[in-house]
Amino acid sequence: MSHSTDPAIRSAIVEALQSMSRLGINKGTAGNISVRGDGGFYISPTGITYADMSADQIVFMKWDGSYEGDILPSSEWRFHRDILAERTELNAVVHTHSTNATAVSILGHDIPAIHYLVASAGGNSIPCARYETFGTAALGRSILNAMKGRRACLLAHHGTIAAGVNLSKAMALSVNVEEMASLYLACLPFGKPPVLSDAEMERILEKFRTYGRQPALSADPGPASRPESDGA
Ligand code: 13P
Ligand code: ZN
Repeated sequence: MSHSTDPAIRSAIVEALQSMSRLGINKGTAGNISVRGDGGFYISPTGITYADMSADQIVFMKWDGSYEGDILPSSEWRFHRDILAERTELNAVVHTHSTNATAVSILGHDIPAIHYLVASAGGNSIPCARYETFGTAALGRSILNAMKGRRACLLAHHGTIAAGVNLSKAMALSVNVEEMASLYLACLPFGKPPVLSDAEMERILEKFRTYGRQPALSADPGPASRPESDGA
């Protein structure tokens, strides 16, 4: 049996697409999702309304861009392929046109470290990739460049990308990118917002590396155990 027909991955992609409008990160047929498979990747079809989509309409594509069947893959298959091929630590890619993140992308701003959760994208900003026409190889290059050291970016005059070790992490990051963009837009009328320092963002990133895996007693000794209170 071919490994290219994993039904669980196909259903998970359809469910994630259908959850996008409920999560406030997409409307209509905008956006697309891919998940790494065996010998290639699964990707949403182009231009099919999410409500009408079924698992067998998810396209399995090999790394060379070839696929079987007569359902067309997303017009953005190139950047999905390029991200999954280059960033082997990432296994799922979510692309949206979520409203507030797209508004920031139109301004061409990176989202700076206005909130500690900006670090969920992997660094002290959520960068904005240079504009390139949708569906082109140039867009893939622009995204890979912006995503250096990051799991997410904005796409100028277009939308967002969020990737993760699995689809649920990539979806959660997509929602967070929209949330960070909403906060940024809310701050902008008051001038350039203050940001967290690089040192603080490094601290947050370090905490994220062990988040959810903390021992019962935190490694952070807290104020009660300064050097002079050693042995307490
Ligand atoms: P597809 O329907 O081809 O996936 O395109 C949607 C989109 O967001 C293009 O950038
Ligand atoms: Zn798009």
